[in-house]
Amino acid sequence: MTDNDLPVIAHWFDGAPAGSAGGRTAPVYNPATGAVQAHVALADEADIAAALASAQRGFDVWSGFSIAKRQSVLFAFRELLNARKTELAAILTAEHGKVLSDAMGEIARGQEVVELATGFPHLIKGAYSENASTGVDVYSLKQPLGIVGVISPFNFPAMVPMWFFPIALAAGNAVILKPSEKDPSASLWLAQLWKEAGLPDGAYTVLQGDKVAVDGLLHSPEVQSISFVGSTPIAQYIYETAAKNGKRVQALGGAKNHMLVLPDADLDLVADSAVNAGFGAAGERCMAVSVVLAVEPVADELVAKVTERIAKLRIGNGAADVEPDMGPLISGQHRDKVSSYVDIAEADGARVVVDGRGYTVDGHEDGFFFGPTLLDAVPTSSRAYTEEIFGPVLSVVRVASYDEGLALINSGEFGNGTAIFTNDGGAARRFQNEVQVGMIGINVPIPVPVAYHSFGGWKKSLFGDAKAYGVHGFDFFTREKAVTSRWLDPATHGGINLGFPQN
Ligand code: NAD
Repeated sequence: MTDNDLPVIAHWFDGAPAGSAGGRTAPVYNPATGAVQAHVALADEADIAAALASAQRGFDVWSGFSIAKRQSVLFAFRELLNARKTELAAILTAEHGKVLSDAMGEIARGQEVVELATGFPHLIKGAYSENASTGVDVYSLKQPLGIVGVISPFNFPAMVPMWFFPIALAAGNAVILKPSEKDPSASLWLAQLWKEAGLPDGAYTVLQGDKVAVDGLLHSPEVQSISFVGSTPIAQYIYETAAKNGKRVQALGGAKNHMLVLPDADLDLVADSAVNAGFGAAGERCMAVSVVLAVEPVADELVAKVTERIAKLRIGNGAADVEPDMGPLISGQHRDKVSSYVDIAEADGARVVVDGRGYTVDGHEDGFFFGPTLLDAVPTSSRAYTEEIFGPVLSVVRVASYDEGLALINSGEFGNGTAIFTNDGGAARRFQNEVQVGMIGINVPIPVPVAYHSFGGWKKSLFGDAKAYGVHGFDFFTREKAVTSRWLDPATHGGINLGFPQN
């Protein structure tokens, strides 16, 4: 088969797949084999215009649906997703590389938000104050914004879009999703499901592409808001550009999550948690643990326990009959970048306890694999410590005290997630109060909040003031009006009064 015979992954306009006008494409790989398996359309200006027109048509119909009708579409979508999620998991594994059970976990966490969104009438009803002043009632309405843009990263091609679109749609908006061009197929599978669930055409529109598509959304006056998840430099660019263009914006960025281990912690629990949170999804999670801060004297024992566990990890094709623990990285380029961080750590004086560089899997020699890597005594001045690696590399930093560990966490530029492992309730309570991070685990390594709380970090992990999903999500995707109403009784007409209205 030549490259030209491969399928082209399309946009989704007006309830159907749509080819690209300009013909630009990018390759989509199977990371486990390293082979190009498809090409994805990359939008140009004509596609952006078509996406906007599709979404506008969708909004015009969908925003007129009653609450009860919208709710029945959401319930139907939830049922279809629940019944057919293994199909979606296979797509995620084939394009992202994560193992199938992890892909199912990703979908479950997205489905949680769909389930929350089915209860939207309670969350978007306004308030009513009767007789705020004599004969005057005051009440609020929550209306959809219109067309909203969602721009997502490669590492959660189903879950991250589902952090936003169920709530945006529930509130009556039309969504344009711009998925990652590295694993774009999940967006179309979800589109087909919306169609079957009864969503009007265009209310869920997919615009495939790269920076051109993103910039098109950022600069289109029709797009009312942008929800972005990705790396910090792009999140900052999105935040600044969308805000300059008068849009509502939430832009979630990168991370460098630390796990603080106090000497009284259960070290077997800590070692299990560090391995699960460090190497799950090959470390390509924004909530992955990348640094273990070991408060002495536990570091030697902990490093030994983690090393033992790494030796038992099975790495391979996430779609194999006997499922491995960990799959490949997203691309050869990314694998080389991860590898270069291990070189940097070593050159800066870290001890490479387990070395994943040059890792290969039999029968999958061209796959983008990188072995689980453990670094000890990583200097905090090293770029391997300060920058996000986004791969299966766990760094141990030895500290003398809780205070030294806390100061390190708080001095970092990111503030996405963190965890403390201890049996001391007082220390844990102090930590939750003092740490400058948005999501905290206490003996929990990946503290992704449930759907009815909200997801978001601090500092350079979130630009904007609205987190994803939960109450924040409903506030973000609605615009409030306050109505002050009086039904005039001629006998009480107050006449001319230029003073500021008072009670
Ligand atoms: P990325 O920033 O490269 O890409 C994200 C999106 O932005 C993609 O849709 C991409 O097409 C688009 N994009 C890329 N370059 C662009 C540019 N120059 N201009 C405009 N748009 C551009 O991120 P990624 O590599 O896909 O994802 C990994 C990153 O996402 C990591 O940094 C990870 O920590 C972060 N992430 C954060 C969270 C969170 O909740 N904070 C969740 C998941 C991933």
